[in-house]
Amino acid sequence: MSDELRVKDGMVVSLEYVLRLDDGEIIDASEGDVLEYLHGYGQIIPGLEKALVGLAVGDSKKVTVPASEAYGEVDMEAFEIVPRSMFPDDLELEEGLELSLRDVETDEPFDATIAEIRETEVMLDFNHPLAGETLHFEVTIPAIRLATEEELAHGHAHGADDHHH
Ligand code: ZN
Repeated sequence: MSDELRVKDGMVVSLEYVLRLDDGEIIDASEGDVLEYLHGYGQIIPGLEKALVGLAVGDSKKVTVPASEAYGEVDMEAFEIVPRSMFPDDLELEEGLELSLRDVETDEPFDATIAEIRETEVMLDFNHPLAGETLHFEVTIPAIRLATEEELAHGHAHGADDHHH
């Protein structure tokens, strides 16, 4: 079938997926909430986007994505030691806790994970929580459609119930 829709740039692809780490732990899944993305616009991680090219509706595939094509390797520069007194007293600090912080100078929000708690200091990790991880996806493609002009202009897919932006 030559007119069969296949995953390529400019297509809006629906994706059902299960995401596991090396140890088999499931860390994310679409669970009936199908993900729609515009292919070729960097809306999903590069290693997965590349692996889906050419798939048709109904296809399933197992895709292993190395950290370098997912959320990157762990950047050893992306750690910072801050005084424990920087945090409110009523915040229970715990290693592995993910924090949403705001830059005091620029007021930009950013995320960090507590890497280590010391007596008077806390080491923050600014890497993505999945940095350094090899990702194992099981994907199924329930639908593919041509993107609208508007979606192409915006560089992302618009869901049926999306407000325009
Ligand atoms: Zn838009």
